[in-house]
Amino acid sequence: MQYPLSHTIYATIGKISVAIIIGIVILLFLTLILGYILVKKQKLILPSVLLFSIDTFYLQIKSLARRFGIAEKTVDQIGIEVRNGLNKESFSSIDARDRILVVPQCLRHEKCPARLDSMEGVTCKGCGMCDIKELKKEAERLGYRFYIVPGGTFVERIIKRVRPRAALGVACHRDLYAGMHRISRAECAVQGVPLIRDGCIHTEVDIKELLRKMRAGIEDTVEEIEKGCSPDEIPKTG
Ligand code: SF4
Repeated sequence: MQYPLSHTIYATIGKISVAIIIGIVILLFLTLILGYILVKKQKLILPSVLLFSIDTFYLQIKSLARRFGIAEKTVDQIGIEVRNGLNKESFSSIDARDRILVVPQCLRHEKCPARLDSMEGVTCKGCGMCDIKELKKEAERLGYRFYIVPGGTFVERIIKRVRPRAALGVACHRDLYAGMHRISRAECAVQGVPLIRDGCIHTEVDIKELLRKMRAGIEDTVEEIEKGCSPDEIPKTG
């Protein structure tokens, strides 16, 4: 028996659709498995596939992660670590004068006397009540332009105005993943360090990790790091 042409076309479209759906489901599971290996074992496998998958199916992967009892933050962490891995070399090769360091205003002490400027963000007055005083000092010693910002939109304005070739950012996992995604479209080699304690106030960043990334390509060796500001010199946030 011969089927009409329209029947054959619908059957083919149906088969292709099922194949695409199966392909996407396999990709989502593969992303979670590779992401788990990355987060737990620090092994970056198929980074371009991982990044494509997370950028394209971000919400679906988060929903799948929830079903398996995996924290949504882990999906953001995977996205951050993949981008860090892919951009590491290009970031390190860029002169510090073409880099910016952006930290969130929630890292400040709650009694911070500095005020927000609509162009420059918060300008630290160096009172020493939080880690930012020393971070700024070290960033500027290395050659970075340093910004304390109230949010992601502010970062985009800075990127458009300053046009850095590389950017290092600190934020909570979700904002950092989203910010790194947007900034990487501006052809800027981006690196990120997530907050280890997030929230609106009293947030905290891994200072050693941040200093290590700041110095990438500038003072990579232990001897050179020791010449600069040691992580231990930076007081803890009050
Ligand atoms: S050191 Fe911290 S609290 Fe003091 S002015 Fe700078 S950002 Fe504000």
